[in-house]
Amino acid sequence: MSLNSPVRIVRVDIDGRPRWGLVEGETAYGLQGEVFGRYERGEKLGTLDNLRLLPPTTPTKIICVGLNYRAHAEESQMALPAEPLLFFKPPSSLIGAGDSIILPPHSQRVDYEAELAVIIGRRCRNVTPQEAWHYVLGVTCGNDVTARDLQRRDNQWTRAKGFDTFCPLGPWMLCALDEADVADLEVICRVNGQVRQRGRTADMVFSPAQLIAYTASIMTLEPGDVIMTGTPAGIGPLSPGDLVEVEVENIGVLCNPVKAAD
Ligand code: MG
Repeated sequence: MSLNSPVRIVRVDIDGRPRWGLVEGETAYGLQGEVFGRYERGEKLGTLDNLRLLPPTTPTKIICVGLNYRAHAEESQMALPAEPLLFFKPPSSLIGAGDSIILPPHSQRVDYEAELAVIIGRRCRNVTPQEAWHYVLGVTCGNDVTARDLQRRDNQWTRAKGFDTFCPLGPWMLCALDEADVADLEVICRVNGQVRQRGRTADMVFSPAQLIAYTASIMTLEPGDVIMTGTPAGIGPLSPGDLVEVEVENIGVLCNPVKAAD
């Protein structure tokens, strides 16, 4: 599948300050202008392998969707929800590509969840599913890291989903896509090079546009807000020393090492 001239946007750390960048090949250039508006290519910032990548958005909220793939609902022995099952991750849980996922001492089982993440570009409230994609700026790869034992223990998932480092996002935001470009992409999770999850976005119960419209009927979505669209089957635990990769076909590969808390 070829995408219609997509644009890759990164946030990078330059001398301790975040900068937006435009990626061409392996080189990042400064983004001059407004990331949610008009911009053009500025000076060269560096090559991707020499830059520290930050999460490619600074959201006011991260909205996640539970049980949005049939096979994952089955493996979780949960009924498919009749409406999207929403929960939050806090913006403080965000990390970028290459940053470490820290396993907290509170949990004996922390799982990966490979997901397609959608980033909102314009304030959005009460839109139809047909209109919803017009409010999207881009998409990226996300890992909805979950303390599974705490999720089973708690009725609310704030603790299980909300630890610092539990929302790796990146490596970049891919922009200027059509809704059809993300309708049937492979979503893969690898741990230490071994495939653990392999699903397709076509198997979502609720499409990204349906999720945006549903969420925006409840709360105003702001530019930069993230919707994590759920994970396919194959969830499993992470251990210290692991390297976990989330790949969304045509979008990119998000790679994070895993460490125990100090
Ligand atoms: Mg999830």
